[in-house]
Amino acid sequence: MLPLIAGNWKMNMDIDQGAALVFRLRDLLRNVQAVEIVIAPPFTSLHHLNHLLADSGIKLAGQDLFWEKSGAYTGEISGEMLKSTGCKYVIVGHSERRQLFGETDETVRRKVVAALRHGLKPIVCVGETLDEREAGKTLSRVRTQVSGALSGLAGSAMKEVTIAYEPVWAIGTGKTAKSQEAEEVHNFIRELLHELFDRESVRNVRIIYGGSVKPDNIDELMAQPNIDGALVGGASLKAEDFARIAGFQRL
Ligand code: PEP
Repeated sequence: MLPLIAGNWKMNMDIDQGAALVFRLRDLLRNVQAVEIVIAPPFTSLHHLNHLLADSGIKLAGQDLFWEKSGAYTGEISGEMLKSTGCKYVIVGHSERRQLFGETDETVRRKVVAALRHGLKPIVCVGETLDEREAGKTLSRVRTQVSGALSGLAGSAMKEVTIAYEPVWAIGTGKTAKSQEAEEVHNFIRELLHELFDRESVRNVRIIYGGSVKPDNIDELMAQPNIDGALVGGASLKAEDFARIAGFQRL
């Protein structure tokens, strides 16, 4: 499986700013090979950026979706709509959505099912808060989130799924989990997948890390055996930083 480096732009970049960033990324990432690169701009830019990304190999992701196909759901975006803009991936259950917009393990599960139904690959975010870590509840919290999000899925669907381990205390704070700390949780998630599904179905599931990933910590993170990529927030808004992260050095 190829490593996956995904940039989550969050609520940043209007259409012109996004286009400028994409032009720069196209240029800087031209020679990066054997890495799958995804960007998740705001919904409003997806359609336009899809045209600008043609033939670049860089793929698009939505930052969220709603599980219904269409109807009276003011403000929501369906999987079908994301698909029609050219998205291949969608981020589901980001901690900001859980904390600020009331997402639960059950809404995350419904969104994962909807993404798969529409042919979108879900990047399912899980991770503990600082309080949970300090109370020694990291692994139990991650277990609940992963098993909740994937509950009821057939093993055959798992080849489309990516798990993003993002400790909440490391997102946007400049604090990164030490590569060894992250590896411990990634290894736990890998074992959990083996418990929930047959080994063959989850062989190629990528478990990526997110939380203040930067050019100066990516190489060490990627050297860990169970870290298969990164979900990058702040640093994905700077073309040079994101390009350096996507072009990480294999130690
Ligand atoms: C994120 O939003 O998924 C994230 C990891 O943000 P940052 O890299 O800024 O911590």
